[in-house]
Amino acid sequence: MMDFPCTSCGECCKNIGSGFEKTLKTDVPLAIKDLIEQFPYKLDENGACSMLNEDNSCSVYNNRPIICNIKLAAKLLHIDEYTWFKQNADACNDLIRSANLDDRYLVTIGEQKTYKEAGKDSKKGTRGNI
Ligand code: SF4
Ligand code: SF4
Repeated sequence: MMDFPCTSCGECCKNIGSGFEKTLKTDVPLAIKDLIEQFPYKLDENGACSMLNEDNSCSVYNNRPIICNIKLAAKLLHIDEYTWFKQNADACNDLIRSANLDDRYLVTIGEQKTYKEAGKDSKKGTRGNI
């Protein structure tokens, strides 16, 4: 199965507080809600994660929380990966449009963009990359 085609826009990590709030109001599995409630890092006053570097990379990327690893969360929690990817992509694209970012950051599931096509270095992943 594919990896989540994160374009490393950084918007989820900049808005993780409001993202969690929204998710807690939906009917995602309780295990996801538990992971959100156990999120270990501080958020700033705007809801941005304190682990986010200025270049939009995650300073704890290799050990990031499960909730920050879209593919691993689907696997560990036995969530249908395609549905989960679609839900996350919709959330990504809402954030990307709200931030008025270039369309090349938009996430497409099914017609997976490569990191190169997205103009990004896959090693500088933020939340969704594997
Ligand atoms: S998971 Fe989505 S919102 Fe987060 S950095 Fe990747 S594309 Fe952007
Ligand atoms: S991926 Fe890293 S920077 Fe982003 S929310 Fe998770 S821990 Fe924070």
